[in-house]
Amino acid sequence: MNLIFASGNHNKVLEIQKIIPKNITIKSLKDLNFNEKIPENEKTIEGNAIFKAKYINNRFNLNVFADDTGLEVKHLNGKPGVHSARYAGLDCNSNNNIQKLLKKLENIENRKARFKTVIALIINNKIQTFEGIVEGYILKEAKGYNGFGYDPIFCPKGFDKSFAELSLKEKNLISHRSLAMKKLIDYLS
Ligand code: IMP
Repeated sequence: MNLIFASGNHNKVLEIQKIIPKNITIKSLKDLNFNEKIPENEKTIEGNAIFKAKYINNRFNLNVFADDTGLEVKHLNGKPGVHSARYAGLDCNSNNNIQKLLKKLENIENRKARFKTVIALIINNKIQTFEGIVEGYILKEAKGYNGFGYDPIFCPKGFDKSFAELSLKEKNLISHRSLAMKKLIDYLS
């Protein structure tokens, strides 16, 4: 089976290619020579995932899945959530987002947070969604160099390392995205 992964994020593509079984071939947007930025203006993580999958399905008429992820911080009532990518502003990068979040949580004891991923799959024009959540907390400073995004400040529950200090293999055993992907793989088999 061939599936398009509707993401331009190289790190996400790497994570997913390590999880997917051999009978499923994943092609990325790069393989389709698609370099546009897909709008992410929906009000929910699920809405954005569905929008991205539909956008690519309409354009190429191929079976496709897309993911959208948010970091939900308890003390901030679930923010940055669906706005995680542009938390520090439209032109911000991951480092700006991390610094803004660390500042918001300065001197705050309750650092509970969770990553939530929703994957939307469109196969033979039918839409299905899969959710993955990993609980944890926000560290007081960035640690580690692996991964991407908020990984250096997120410590999964039961661990004493940030996601950015785990190998890709270790992150994939527990991460929000891999949990959602495993549900998608179960559905396909
Ligand atoms: P999106 O799903 O690409 O829209 O991601 C929203 C925001 O969350 C971006 O700032 C990403 O860098 C960040 N993000 C998404 N997935 C992860 C992850 O697995 N670890 C850390 N940050 C992530």
